[in-house]
Amino acid sequence: MSFIDNLIANVIRDDVRANSAYVVPDSSGLIKLDAMENPYELPRALREELARRLADAVLNRYPMASYASLKEKVSATLGIPAGYDVLLGNGSDELIQIVATTVANQKRRATILAPVPAFVMYSRSAQFAGADFVGVKLKPDFSLDMDAMLAAIALHQPAVVFLAYPNNPTGNLFASEDIETIIRALGDKGIAVLDEAYQPFARHTFMDRLDEFENLVVMRTVSKLGLAGIRLGYMTAAPQLLAEFEKVRPPYNVNVLTQVAAEFVLDHVEVLDAQAASINAERERLTPELAALAGVEVFPSAANFISLRVPDAADVCAKLLAEKVLIKNLSKMHPSLANCIRVTVSTPEENSAFLNSLKAALAPA
Ligand SMILES: *Cc1c(COP(=O)(O)O)cnc(C)c1O
Repeated sequence: MSFIDNLIANVIRDDVRANSAYVVPDSSGLIKLDAMENPYELPRALREELARRLADAVLNRYPMASYASLKEKVSATLGIPAGYDVLLGNGSDELIQIVATTVANQKRRATILAPVPAFVMYSRSAQFAGADFVGVKLKPDFSLDMDAMLAAIALHQPAVVFLAYPNNPTGNLFASEDIETIIRALGDKGIAVLDEAYQPFARHTFMDRLDEFENLVVMRTVSKLGLAGIRLGYMTAAPQLLAEFEKVRPPYNVNVLTQVAAEFVLDHVEVLDAQAASINAERERLTPELAALAGVEVFPSAANFISLRVPDAADVCAKLLAEKVLIKNLSKMHPSLANCIRVTVSTPEENSAFLNSLKAALAPA
């Protein structure tokens, strides 16, 4: 073995060596419908004003570690209830990591539980934090299997249960009574993290239930709303609990450019809300059209994407790619997603391009 091979064998964790990096496919020149991005840019006048604000950003200093002004803006414009502080993250990906790291390490084994299929960062973050990950299979219609969830909670006593609301990659909202039952079953033995990444499209939330449940954390992001590039997530919970997570947060995790951009754009959040409304209208247009296609099963979605089952997902994805349409093949994520694909709801033009390419891909040769 070479020096570098030996070095890696000597110092890198086995489970890290066995893992592979998160793969993001190259999308240049493609209609990009694989990552739940908002397809709309900000209006030109706003972008020009943003450029002026960014020109004045203080780049030679560290960010103000309190992030007081950004937190105030987030709280005021994104619906944080009075009396609750927020913790900011470099995307909610980082918040998931912070939660996992706060509850577990190699010395204090902890279990992190989530229904599966779920957002992949839950299991990855659990693993890298040194926690055991338990995935509990959703029912075939992707609703929560409550008997299995409650049995797994009793058996594993998870420190954290992640619930994406709506769920990614399936798009559905879990029944709120089921979520309540899970939060109560955890009691003071476990934290329920409601990941509301798609809240701008779902308009359902547990944000107004924080007073009821002291073991509830509500996590959100501005990514799906239209600011995926700036990387900003936020979460809130009972102040004493949030203070513990705060100890694990790297002090300058949100950079100055993100801070300036977010404070500016959130002053115009109605622009993003209007974009979300047109994406929702397109979802309502697209869903029945997809459902009408022979051989296609569409899963109900409250998010800015639609998941569907087709006769041959690999074939459909390859044919769409040949038409320069990039979507996500979910087949390898979980056995229950065999021949499932996921498509971001985009502009009317891009959605029609997808629909037409899909029809062509499904047509008998
Ligand atoms: C996209 C997504 C996130 C990640 O959001 P970022 O803020 O961009 O890191 C978190 N949770 C779910 C369920 C998602 O689908």
